[in-house]
Amino acid sequence: MADCIFCKIINGDIPSKKIYEDDKVLAFHDISPEAPVHFLVIPKEHIVSANEINEENSKIIAHIFIIINKIVRELNVADAGYRIINNCGTDGGQTVGHMHFHILAGRNLKWPPG
Ligand code: AMP
Ligand code: ZN
Repeated sequence: MADCIFCKIINGDIPSKKIYEDDKVLAFHDISPEAPVHFLVIPKEHIVSANEINEENSKIIAHIFIIINKIVRELNVADAGYRIINNCGTDGGQTVGHMHFHILAGRNLKWPPG
């Protein structure tokens, strides 16, 4: 998708601090971290939001969660705990229209979010 910043990160047109990459997903550090550990995992396929998940593309969700599991172990935050967030649409606080999962860790996170 031409005007999508996350597609540009996938293509290498915008630099990112990559953590993990395979043919289906990319994980990279959030540019504006809200916790000591804050990274994003995105599908390489341009899926706009969770609203677009369907039978055909749903396998990517399981894959993303497996990759999150792997990364949090490598970053040594799996045992202490972490939060996985998907913001969907305007009221959900989504600002980038390419579905992504935030992983926050490294501090005691408040609940509920604002
Ligand atoms: P959301 O508000 O859920 O759509 O989250 C978008 C996230 O993308 C925010 O946490 C931003 O800080 C992050 N972000 C935006 N541009 C970049 C970028 N170029 N590299 C890394 N993270 C970014
Ligand atoms: Zn995109």
